[in-house]
Amino acid sequence: MTADIASIRHDFPILNTKLPNGQPLVYLDSGATAQHPKSVINKISEIYEHYYSNVHRGVHQLGDRVTSEMEAARARIQAFIGASATEEIIFTSGTTMSINLIAQTWGRHFLKGGDEIILNEMEHHANFVPWQAIAKERGAVLKFIQLTPDGRLDQEHYQCLLSPKTKLVAVTGMSNVLGTINPIEEMAARAHEVGALIFVDGAQSVPHLPVNVVESEIDFLAFSGHKIFGPSGIGVLYGRKSLLEQTPPFLFGGNMISEVHCEDSHWAQLPAKFEAGTPAITEAIALGTAIDYVSELGFDAIQQQEHVLSQYALQRLQEVPGLQIYGPLELEDRGAIFSFNIDGAHPEDLATLLDRKGIAVRHGHHCTMPLHQHLNIAASIRASLTFYNTTDEIDALIDAIEFARKRLR
Ligand code: PLP
Repeated sequence: MTADIASIRHDFPILNTKLPNGQPLVYLDSGATAQHPKSVINKISEIYEHYYSNVHRGVHQLGDRVTSEMEAARARIQAFIGASATEEIIFTSGTTMSINLIAQTWGRHFLKGGDEIILNEMEHHANFVPWQAIAKERGAVLKFIQLTPDGRLDQEHYQCLLSPKTKLVAVTGMSNVLGTINPIEEMAARAHEVGALIFVDGAQSVPHLPVNVVESEIDFLAFSGHKIFGPSGIGVLYGRKSLLEQTPPFLFGGNMISEVHCEDSHWAQLPAKFEAGTPAITEAIALGTAIDYVSELGFDAIQQQEHVLSQYALQRLQEVPGLQIYGPLELEDRGAIFSFNIDGAHPEDLATLLDRKGIAVRHGHHCTMPLHQHLNIAASIRASLTFYNTTDEIDALIDAIEFARKRLR
């Protein structure tokens, strides 16, 4: 199926608005947070206008309705990522929370002195610092997979790092800076050969690439609602049921208990065991609506459109004098995320001038300081695209870069 861009853009009202300076918005920052289709916006209003209530509590009709809608959203997410059971889908506040949950519970319970965690320098701080902190606490050792000069994980080096001491491999499905798509299935198979688990940070990959946690033998997967065209404040932790069952709870309080006595308490079954307190109810339900939108559009159409955009963006960016792109240049190994610098232009100045032309990009270290240190740069500009972007918007970016270069000379 080919994406009908005009009708897709019609689904996202914000894409058709003008900025306060009168420029049409060219939104190239979906890697930071994605925009919302009308179906998600309408679902949020519908809930607040007609049946907002708390979940898993009262017997009243509103409570029944939100509870069944939230559980239906959980089932849709289960199907979307190919998980075996709804109990394996834990609602969290986002990727960061999902990673901290496992680091602070599984990590604290199962890691011991001398155990090894395999990381790498392309990880977002969210999939870096929680492991660093728990490794320090437990006396575990971090090992780093080398990056190749074009920004991939060196798979031979990964193989050398794996040993019976390896307990966990934490890796991103797609780099939020380099755009690199990592070979998760192969990496999972190799981790399992030495008895290690794999934690996949799917913040950037899940919105753009199909995933099947069972087929790819992923032990833990995290992603955020706001990067997959859903609300912020909601995210998902997938964990293999047997692993989550062995893992102690993270937060304590209402909803996560089966019995509380003055002397001791007992935990609820999955997924409630990891969902203490009132969840982000509306957001969880609307995340289900966002997943429906992506599923109906389909990954074939999404990938086809993103492929066209990536090819054109790479071609046009490489025409700009003095522009250096970080990450692989082969389309099959990368997503539609382009980080770059231009000789003589500070990324913040460049981003400010691009904004004058209505182009929304991100600048800075993108929460990847180790990667920027590795690249020997302080900051970069990042344009992150998705299926609702157009080649005309890439032309607008290139024109705005030309406008900025003239002023920064
Ligand atoms: N991991 C990656 C690869 C990301 O790009 C991000 C956000 O940019 C995160 C983790 C953190 O996501 P969140 O802020 O939604 O928790």
